[in-house]
Amino acid sequence: MSAFWTEADFDDHELVQVVRCRTSGLTAIIALHSTHLGPGAGGTRFWHYADPAGAMRDALRLSRGMSYKNAMAGLPMGGGKAVILADENRTKTPEMLAAFGDAVEALGGRYVTAEDVGISEADMVAVSQRTAHVSGLPVAGEGSAGGDPGPFTAYGIYLGIKAAVAHKLGKANLAGVHVAVQGTGSVGGGVARLLAKDGARLTLADIHAERAGALAAELGGDVVASEAIQGIACDVFSPNALGAILDDEGIARLDCAIVAGGANNQLARAHHGEVLAARGILYAPDYVINAGGIISVATEYLARRDGSHAEAAAVRSLIEQIPGRLEAIWQESDTSGVPSDVVADRMAQKLIGRG
Ligand code: NAD
Repeated sequence: MSAFWTEADFDDHELVQVVRCRTSGLTAIIALHSTHLGPGAGGTRFWHYADPAGAMRDALRLSRGMSYKNAMAGLPMGGGKAVILADENRTKTPEMLAAFGDAVEALGGRYVTAEDVGISEADMVAVSQRTAHVSGLPVAGEGSAGGDPGPFTAYGIYLGIKAAVAHKLGKANLAGVHVAVQGTGSVGGGVARLLAKDGARLTLADIHAERAGALAAELGGDVVASEAIQGIACDVFSPNALGAILDDEGIARLDCAIVAGGANNQLARAHHGEVLAARGILYAPDYVINAGGIISVATEYLARRDGSHAEAAAVRSLIEQIPGRLEAIWQESDTSGVPSDVVADRMAQKLIGRG
C-alpha cells in the first residue's frame, strides 16, 4: 500500500485516524474531511475489505462526499465517515462497538457518527452508550425529527422531480408526467406514492418483482422487469436502488429527459455527468436531491445536543429548500455549460471554504 496521502482520494482531510484496540479486536478508520461548517457528520460502515487500502479509500472518499452533501443540504455540519474493518466472518462484538464509541467520544464531538452499510440501529444504540455524538437514533413518537430517514429522503426527491419537470419540461404539475422508478423500497416506494397523488404516470421495477407489483396494484401503473426499467421511454428516470448505474452503457440506454432519484453515487465516473449533459438529459445531482434523510437525522441530533426537541414539520420546511438549490445548480449549468454535477461540487467546495 502506498502512503495514503499520495492517494488520489486524499483531499486535505483535516484528520484521518486509525483506531486499533487490542482487547476488543477493533480496527477502524475515522476520516474527518472538513469541519468548516460544523462537526464532521457521516455514518459508520462495517465491511470486510480484501485490502486495507480499500478501507482507507472508502473513508477518504465517503467523508469528502459527506462534506459536500451536508454543505449543500444547508446543515451546520461538516463531513466525516468511519469504517470498521470486519474480518472474513464479519465478527461484531459489543466490546468492539464500545471501543468504537470510545474512539468517537475521544474526538470530543468533532465527528458525529450514524448507521451505514453493515451497522444497524441497535449497533448505534450500543455505540451511544459510550458517546453522545451519535445521530439517527430511534425517536419517540410520530411528528418528531429523526427516526427512519426513508420518508424524508423520498419527500425531497419528490420535490426535486417536480422542480426538474418545471425546469426541463416547463410543466407546473406532474399530471400525466411519466416517471420510471427503479427500486421500490423505502425511498423509491415513498417517491412513487407521492408522485401518484399528483397524477403522475408510473412505471415501476424492483428485483423483488412482487414488491413493485404490490405497489403498482396500490397506486396504479405498470411493472417492468428490473433489467428493462432504465431503457423505458419516459419523462423522468428515477433511480432509487443502486449506485453507478450511469456508466457509458447505462446512459446510452436512457430514453428520458430527466434523471432524478435517490440512489447514492449514480455517476459511475466523474465524466459521466458530462456524458449525460451531452445527451441533453437534465441531471439532479444525487447528493443534493437525496438529502432529506440526512436533514432529518442531523436536525434530530442538533436538537438533542442542545437539550431541545425538533419536530418533523421543521425538518420538512428545510427539505423544501432542496428544489431551490437544484434550480440554482441547473441555472448555473445552463449559463456556463458546465455539467450540473460539477456545478454542485463547486458550490459545495465554496461553502466549505475551499472554492
Ligand atoms: P431499500 O433497500 O429500502 O430499497 C432498495 C430497493 O431497490 C429494494 O426494494 C431492492 O429490492 C431494489 N433493488 C435492488 N437492486 C435493484 C435493481 N438492480 N433493480 C431494481 N431494483 C433493485 O433502500 P432505500 O433506503 O430505499 O435506498 C435506496 C437508495 O437510496 C440506495 O442507493 C441508498 O443508498 C439511497 N439513499 C437512501 C436514503 C434513505 O434515507 N433510506 C438516503 C439517501 C440515499
